Amino acid sequence: MSSGRTHDRITLWTLPLVVLVAFRVTLDGWLTVVVCLGFLLGGWVLGPDLDIHSVQYKRWGWLRWIWLPYRGSMRHRSRWSHGPLIGTTVRVLYVSVWLALAGLVVVDMLNNVGRTALTWGDLIRGIGWGMQTYWPWWLALVAGLELGALSHYATDWLSSRAKRRKRRTANPRAKGRGQRAQGKRQRAKGRGQKVEGRRQ
Ligand SMILES: [Zn+2]
Repeated sequence: MSSGRTHDRITLWTLPLVVLVAFRVTLDGWLTVVVCLGFLLGGWVLGPDLDIHSVQYKRWGWLRWIWLPYRGSMRHRSRWSHGPLIGTTVRVLYVSVWLALAGLVVVDMLNNVGRTALTWGDLIRGIGWGMQTYWPWWLALVAGLELGALSHYATDWLSSRAKRRKRRTANPRAKGRGQRAQGKRQRAKGRGQKVEGRRQ
């Protein structure tokens, strides 16, 4: 696993490539800006390592507690946080739930002080309208988030591979041991599946 700082640097270094690809696909300067914004957010703030006490998690400041249920409900680097498409989908839905809750609280407060007479229906209709009207912007943002997450997954994968190779060259006998350990793990996995099967 790479450190948070390595992930941050890679996100920044790959940004020019994202600018080129996004502009080539969208042929629009502002949409390219939104893709890049999503990419930086996906790499630095809304990244896959929110499933542990990471740099990304700390960047949420006093709001970081909203990620505790997320952290608690999945294993680090599980497919729910580190799976292509799935990871971003889960995080976007998760943040949306919190945003919806915050929206409801704000509307309720405004109604209570008598400034507005908004209903939840108005809120849902407003969001629906915003989504429909500005869908290319939302799509660009989500595509950027996914690209940011993909750069993270790729870095994690490459660094794990490099570490394994380094261990093998440092100790060639470790390969045999590694294979034995892998066999053991697979046997354990088989047992786990059996237990799961029994539960079902
Ligand atoms: Zn990771």
